[in-house]
Amino acid sequence: MLFLDELAEFAPAVLDALRQPLEEGRIRLARAHGAVSFPARFLLVAASNPCPCGNAGTPQPCRCSEAARRRYRRRLSAPLLDRFDLRLGVQRPDVDRLTGQVVEEGSEAVADRVTVAREVARRRGVGANRDLAGSLLDRHAALDRSGRALLGDALRQHRLTARGVDRVRRVARTLADLAGEAGSVLSDEHLSVALYLRAEPEALLGADS
Ligand SMILES: [Zn+2]
Repeated sequence: MLFLDELAEFAPAVLDALRQPLEEGRIRLARAHGAVSFPARFLLVAASNPCPCGNAGTPQPCRCSEAARRRYRRRLSAPLLDRFDLRLGVQRPDVDRLTGQVVEEGSEAVADRVTVAREVARRRGVGANRDLAGSLLDRHAALDRSGRALLGDALRQHRLTARGVDRVRRVARTLADLAGEAGSVLSDEHLSVALYLRAEPEALLGADS
């Protein structure tokens, strides 16, 4: 797993260099004396503030200049964010959470569910659902009429890119696996949650103007 904290603080060249290994699962290095390719199949997790001071979109006033905010957002380009299967805006934790008044499900219970879902994916012949492609995707993450309409609407409204369609299907498959649903056709509920978990870059970072 590769965790990049403060994603927007990385140099644009570094972020660009992530795209190819993310797509291919291998990293290619070309030098004067030859080219080599190494395995680079990793889970990328990244976090970023919405602006350099971190206050944009919160009740606190943002102290950044317009130029600083724009520069920050340009680094989190749409093509880069499109390669993340899950994109979520998170708020500051409230007082009840910080003081332990809210009881969350324990990590162990979640880990058990994940282990079961991984096992289901392995029985499909892949390490994880992210590797489902082509006929395997059609077999295990099939769309009925209503599912096709749901994704079609998201595409037409530009809430989803062409690259995102298969990614949403894989996430919906994983949600179904976590819920213990074995049917091969994705439900509207799981597709809707997968779309929700793929927040548009504009929704996360605010409009550019
Ligand atoms: Zn700010």
